[in-house]
Parts: sequence; C-alpha cells; structure tokens
Amino acid sequence: MSKVLIIGCGGVASVAIQKCCQNSEVFTEICIASRTREKCDALKAKLEGTTKTRITTAQVNADNPEELISLIRDYRPQAVLNVALPYQDLTIMDACLACGVDYIDTANYEPENTDDPQWRAIYEERCKKEGFTAYFDYSWQWAYRKKFEEAGLTALLGSGFDPGVTSVFTAYAQKHYFDEIHTIDILDCNGGDHGYPFATNFNPEINLREVSANGSYWENGRWVETKPMEIKREYDFPQVGKKDMYLLHHEEIESLAKNIPGVRRIRFFMTFGQSYLTHMKCLENVGMLSTSPIQFEGREIVPIQFLKALLPDPASLGPRTVGKTNIGCIFTGVKDGKERTVYIYNVCDHQACYRELGSQAISYTTGVPAMIGTALVVSGIWNKKGVFNLEEFDPDPYMEMLNRFGLPWVVDESPAIVE
Ligand code: NDP
Repeated sequence: MSKVLIIGCGGVASVAIQKCCQNSEVFTEICIASRTREKCDALKAKLEGTTKTRITTAQVNADNPEELISLIRDYRPQAVLNVALPYQDLTIMDACLACGVDYIDTANYEPENTDDPQWRAIYEERCKKEGFTAYFDYSWQWAYRKKFEEAGLTALLGSGFDPGVTSVFTAYAQKHYFDEIHTIDILDCNGGDHGYPFATNFNPEINLREVSANGSYWENGRWVETKPMEIKREYDFPQVGKKDMYLLHHEEIESLAKNIPGVRRIRFFMTFGQSYLTHMKCLENVGMLSTSPIQFEGREIVPIQFLKALLPDPASLGPRTVGKTNIGCIFTGVKDGKERTVYIYNVCDHQACYRELGSQAISYTTGVPAMIGTALVVSGIWNKKGVFNLEEFDPDPYMEMLNRFGLPWVVDESPAIVE
C-alpha cells in the first residue's frame, strides 16, 4: 500500500504510470504531476476504470523548489518518482529532503544551461580531475548522500534500463556467476525502424547531447576519452542480427567503476544507423545542437529546443516502429579459479509494447524499471538510507519483477565477445 507522486508525463512516464496501475497492490494511489497538466489528465482518463490505483493529477514546474514542496506537502506521498528531465534532479531531491520522502529517478543530473559560469567552473575542474568531459556526472547527486542518510531517506539513482537494468544485471552476475568481474561491455541495440529519416527515441535534447559528446571508457582505474563515434564495432545481436555499434560515454560506467571491486574495464556501445549519424553530424555542423541561446527575429531561442519542436515527439513513434531492442551486458571474469564469460540481456519488441501500452520499446524499457525501482523502495524491500545506484542492492527481487512486468531476461554462458 503506497502513495507515490510521479513527476513528468512524457514517453517514459506514460509507461511507468501504466505499469504502476498494473501493480495496484503496491501503488494504491498515484498523483501524476507535470508542466502540462492536460497530458496528465488525458492519461488519467485513459487509465480510469482499468485499474484499482487511485489517480489524481497536478500542474507543477519542477524547476521551482517552492512549487514542488507545496505539492508534496499537499499530497503527502511516500516517494517521488522523477521521470521529468535530468535538469530537475536536484530541485526534486531538495524538495524530497525538505518534505521527508524517498526519491527515485532514471537519469543523472545535468544542467539545462551549460554556459552558466558557476556550473562551468565546477565542470571544468571535474574534467581535469576525472578525465571525462560529459556534461552529466554523478558528483552532484552523490553529494546528497549524507543528507539523505541523516534524514533516514532513500534516493535511488538511475532506475531506467541503462542505467538501471544494466546495473542490476551486473549485481546479479556478481552475486550468482562470478567471484570477480574483470570486464563489462554494455551493449544497447535498437533494431527498430520508425520510418522517419531522422527522429530520436527519447527526449531529443537529452539524446542528442549524449550521442554527440566525446566517448569514453574505464580501464585500469582511469577514464580513457575518445572522439565522438571514434570506436566502432559490429555485433550479431540475438533476435536482432548484425548491427554497427559505437562506443559512448554512459553514466553507469561511473558508478560501476566504484561499486564493482576488481573490475578492469567497462565500455558502453550503442547501435546507430548511418542515416541517423549523417543527420546528426549535419545538424551539429550547422549549430542546431547548440544549447546556447541565440537571438532570432527579436526573441531568444535555444537551437536544440527549436529542433526538438520540429522533430517527431518520441511518444508518437509507437504505432510506426517495428523491430526489436536488445540491451544487455557481457561480463568476463573468474569463478572458482576458472575464467568465464556471461551475457545477460533482454529483447523487447516495439510492436508488442505498442499493443500493450501504446508506446515504443525505448520508453517501455525505461518506464518498466522506473516502476520496479519505485515499488522496491516503497515496499521497503530496498531500504538502505542514503543515495544509491542500483548495483548497490540485492538484484534478485528486481530480476524477478523484470520477468513479471514485461522485460524477461536471458543468461547466455557462451556468447561472442566484443574485440
Ligand atoms: P519527455 O520529454 O518525453 O518527457 C519529459 C516530461 O517531463 C514531459 O512531460 C515534460 O513536460 C516534463 N517536464 C519537463 N520539464 C519540466 C518541468 N520543469 N516541470 C515539470 N515537468 C517537466 O522525456 P522522456 O520521457 O523521453 O524521458 C524522461 C526521462 O527518462 C529523462 O530524464 C531521460 O533522460 C530518461 N531516460 C532514461 C533512460 C534510461 O534507460 N535510464 C532511457 C531514456 C530516457 P511537457 O509535457 O510540458 O513537455
């Protein structure tokens, strides 16, 4: 029995909310609150009569801590699930602390304005100290650890698929298959086709920022940074087939490097088609990926936000997308003195997701884990106090819920490895 406030009502939120409603024994009451209340009301109208979960809605600007605090005090939830944007992570964490409620999200903090001089100074220092230049990193949220611990609250960071399920797959491999994990390759393959020449599968601004940034991986205790898309490999994905994939910087590498003792190398690869890469390069070359405001016909616009308005809404790709995703991790290491390799992955079919919830598989594979992480926190099954990444908890209950709520996984003990 629990009452949860869900912030955001986009592609991922829509799946997370529908999954909460399928799990109404745990989620007895939810409030959907977002910037645009009409979207919350429309989803509520779609779900009412199909679930025992009691749904209310609210309008909130999650950039504004006062508004958040007043909403939380008014609704009195046990936890807040943040499925808005990474820009709002810190304001929502502050509001949770002020009101004494647990916090769950799917992506680590990054600032909306990367030209902000105060943020930039800290960022540049971190680039020098840590050796990677991504705009997002965990330091901002890990800095809340003591505050959450002292308040007796849980903050669960990154309960999507990657990070999220990939972190849980790692904890599961560590618990059941290895004495020591030496290498982790996280492979994110989207074999889906939406028929547009160019569209992103989740929020375009966040997606394009991530993909156009430098790549990096963790090796022998330090970061190795690469140019964007510099490292390319081909992999034959079960149920999808051969795809080109490229090494990216990705947030779970940062936490796994800290939390998996003895790990020597962690890499992250994502598949991209040539059309996507050509479009992205062109947009980048003409300045459309810039987050810095420019003057246009007497008003200020941010190029990447203007681009977002032109691109298809990721939430609308569902009916058009066919094919499957395959996301998982290949681990190498030792067990009982013998070397072994294990691949744990999930395959998700875009059309099956659409038939079930009206969403494509990228929103589905993120929204289901967002619900699971929240369920484990509010049920007290994951109950450590402080700020944590998912690999720091017992993976077994999460793995069981993945099977039960639509993301079944496979363990392959003799996979092909990535060179
Ligand atoms: P969308 O852009 O589809 O949805 C974002 C939602 O947040 C919208 O409803 C938006 O409102 C709302 N929102 C934005 N700003 C505010 C604000 N200031 N106050 C209140 N609400 C706000 O994004 P997605 O659903 O694609 O992504 C959601 C999150 O999931 C992102 O953080 C993304 O990084 C993360 N993600 C994580 C993945 C993982 O595997 N871990 C994979 C994919 C995504 P409005 O409707 O008015 O625009």
